[in-house]
Amino acid sequence: MQLDLIIYDTELLTMEDGGVGYLADAALGIKGDKIAVVGNTEKILAGHQADRLLEGKNLLVMPGLIDAHIHTGIALLRGLAQDISGWMEEGLWPFSRQLDREAREAGTALNIMEAVRNGTTLLADFGSNLEGMVKWHRRIGTRALLSKTINELDSSSEIIPGELYPFDHRKGEEDLAEALTWIEKEELPERISFFLGPQAPDMLSLELLKKIYDLAGKLETGIHMHVAQGEREHRQMRMRYNSRTIPWLAREGLLNSKLNAVHLTEATPEETRLLARSGAGLTVCSGSIGIIDGQVPPLQEFLEVADRAALGSDQAPGNNCNNMFNEMKLTALFNKIRNESPLPLPAWKVLRLATIEAAGCLGLGDKVGSLTPGKFADLITIDLKEINLSPVIRHPLRNLVPNLVYSARGSEVRDVMVAGRFIFRKGRMVTVEEEEILKQADSAAARIMERVDEERLARLSPLYQAQREGKL
Ligand SMILES: [Zn+2]
Repeated sequence: MQLDLIIYDTELLTMEDGGVGYLADAALGIKGDKIAVVGNTEKILAGHQADRLLEGKNLLVMPGLIDAHIHTGIALLRGLAQDISGWMEEGLWPFSRQLDREAREAGTALNIMEAVRNGTTLLADFGSNLEGMVKWHRRIGTRALLSKTINELDSSSEIIPGELYPFDHRKGEEDLAEALTWIEKEELPERISFFLGPQAPDMLSLELLKKIYDLAGKLETGIHMHVAQGEREHRQMRMRYNSRTIPWLAREGLLNSKLNAVHLTEATPEETRLLARSGAGLTVCSGSIGIIDGQVPPLQEFLEVADRAALGSDQAPGNNCNNMFNEMKLTALFNKIRNESPLPLPAWKVLRLATIEAAGCLGLGDKVGSLTPGKFADLITIDLKEINLSPVIRHPLRNLVPNLVYSARGSEVRDVMVAGRFIFRKGRMVTVEEEEILKQADSAAARIMERVDEERLARLSPLYQAQREGKL
């Protein structure tokens, strides 16, 4: 068979067969946007011709990482909301309310570029500026599962922390209508797809939430929603429905396989198991939740019942990076520390949670997540000559996977390919000018900061106070 590209004399992690699928002396052939053949170098070179041959010595080839929950639209607020309680209401909102479409777009471009540089090929991106998200995922060349934020929060009246949010039903309907417009567009590339994105159970009415579930059924798509996150949601649910979130979702018929729930930090172990048994997926964001809430999401309880789980980097205002190497390491570490045991979440398992299992969690398991013939060629190469991966030991015990999880930082990623096309090659972005995106982010951030009410910040922000004391 005539192929477009063969990467040969390399090592692969295919992520097949329940482990990491390590193959030495390996080659991988690509035809169009798909993986055509995977196997032994000698055999593949003997049986196939290709337009391009790429020697893969000292490289490790593996599936691209999957960020199952990210808000690229708020990336310009990186580092403005950590180390405080009330992350969203006190930390984020004074700044995020000033973000306009242009600023969200500048953040999206910056954040996607950061993700790609660190080996992410698929982003489940959640945000209010769907148009900007489509534009930049398209332009940069990433695979994206996009959700337009749908909520009924009334932006005209001030939200007072601790009081029940007033709902604006028209706002929710408008958000939903915008989401549907994009889902129904036919001219988008195959790699751009959509989930419906109700923001959180406390941020829209039950009526609208039920409507969204019905639509997800009709459109054969999923629901991407923050669930049982933080004291804020807990308090709102108690005030509005006199109930905890997960039992309430179950009672209303909203706990099922349509749902990909994010966080679950307020869930009891029994509630987590209830959600897992319902067939719903779970995405945990270890870095973000560690920094903004000081909690470890209940991944272990979930995995005792079901295997539909994934990892996400969440957001830059308080994570403060969007790097799946960071998420793999933190997820492994936090769960070990929480249990005072080195056994939970070993390296191979978190690597699976960031690749093949994430793909399954997002309903894309037949398309991406492993180096399997017939799947899309979404892959990355890792430079094994980097100091922190050296020496590579292959016998009598391999150290590749543990070092990938506990020592790699993302800068070891040399190439990134999505659907057979390099979008990052030898350490440089291929489809966009990095300098331009950085410049655009700087100027948009400066413009937004001009609008922030500094007087109010001085009165209410613990971070502003810390700055005054010389701590920032
Ligand atoms: Zn989120």
